Amino acid sequence: MTFKAKKERLQEIYERFETDAHKFKKDAICKIGCTYCCTDVGNVDTTTLEGVIILERVNSLPQPLKGQVKKKIAQNRLKKEKEKIARCPFLKEDDTCLIYDIRPFSCRQLYSIRECRGRGPTVHRQATELAKKTVREMQRLDDTGYSGHISFILYLLDKPGFRKLYLSGGFDPGKIARFGKSHGIVINRFAR
Ligand code: SF4
Repeated sequence: MTFKAKKERLQEIYERFETDAHKFKKDAICKIGCTYCCTDVGNVDTTTLEGVIILERVNSLPQPLKGQVKKKIAQNRLKKEKEKIARCPFLKEDDTCLIYDIRPFSCRQLYSIRECRGRGPTVHRQATELAKKTVREMQRLDDTGYSGHISFILYLLDKPGFRKLYLSGGFDPGKIARFGKSHGIVINRFAR
């Protein structure tokens, strides 16, 4: 499958999840400006396929915004490497998302039917199961890629050698084995 076709398929997966999860998400109390999921929830997971789409957007931003966002991505990575809670690099000062239209699935699946503060999101069990299945479907689609926290995946994709191999459809997990192990990167092909 071409990369373009994979991107289109990813959109279909997002859309189908929204349709299937609507019966649960309609009860969400989430609203614009509530940033709990973007600041206090652990990892913002991303597949490499999603990462490429996000990196293309970042690289198309005008300066100095592009430089500022890249700096925030690097800062997020350094904080997460120290296992600290880190604000998402795409959360703007006005508490909206810079990449909302292309945000990764881990952001799309999250909602809560109760106030999150102090206890985390309250999600229907069936919606969690649906999200897990959707993640597996995305990993099968991106079967020469990887999954992990957003700033770790973007770090890999920003490396010319890795990006070239990945975009050409190549697959050589040995090349990132050390980083992958220390950063909790999942090899999509072997994900369960
Ligand atoms: S990508 Fe956007 S929606 Fe997702 S955590 Fe970051 S700011 Fe929030």
